[in-house]
Amino acid sequence: MSGIDEAPTTCPYCGSPVKLVDNSMIYGRSVGRWPYVYLCLNDRCAAYVGTHPNTNRALGTLADEETREARVLAHEAFDPLWRGKDKLMGRREAYLWLALQLGGSPAETHIGWSDASTCREIARLATAKVEELRKERGHTMPYDVRKGPPCPNSKPFGIYKKGTGEKVGGCHPSADQAYKQVAAINHRERGKK
Ligand SMILES: [Zn+2]
Repeated sequence: MSGIDEAPTTCPYCGSPVKLVDNSMIYGRSVGRWPYVYLCLNDRCAAYVGTHPNTNRALGTLADEETREARVLAHEAFDPLWRGKDKLMGRREAYLWLALQLGGSPAETHIGWSDASTCREIARLATAKVEELRKERGHTMPYDVRKGPPCPNSKPFGIYKKGTGEKVGGCHPSADQAYKQVAAINHRERGKK
């Protein structure tokens, strides 16, 4: 299940028809290299969402003004977890962490698919996490999750010691399980200090 309609035809807010249009319909002129958006044709609603470059696949669910603002704020809070010079987490690890916080599957956890209240929750959680990890800087997490060699049960995530790269996890759990195990190990290790 993809969890998202990549070619929406009906607005989730007002039920009006949705059409794939050039974003000059919104901005008065075409903006960006791939200016195509799904737009709600109800003038008073006008929820919209962009598309992946060179495709007609929606980037997320249609967003009204409140949702667009909440998504921007969620990205501003969340992206520093994996982006920028801090390198607090890998991108994959950051999205796994988010999925675990929200109780969803990693494949379906995306800011672009989230409504305004979920985005506000993401911003709150991420702001606290960034603060926590920045405080910990100086003694970094000793273990992490990463993709290991292929394994017969095709669950390639292992637990590795940072620095040495020594594999600590005995089997190849799913990414979710591996991330939970690493969080528990890191918690214990930090408790010893
Ligand atoms: Zn609408």
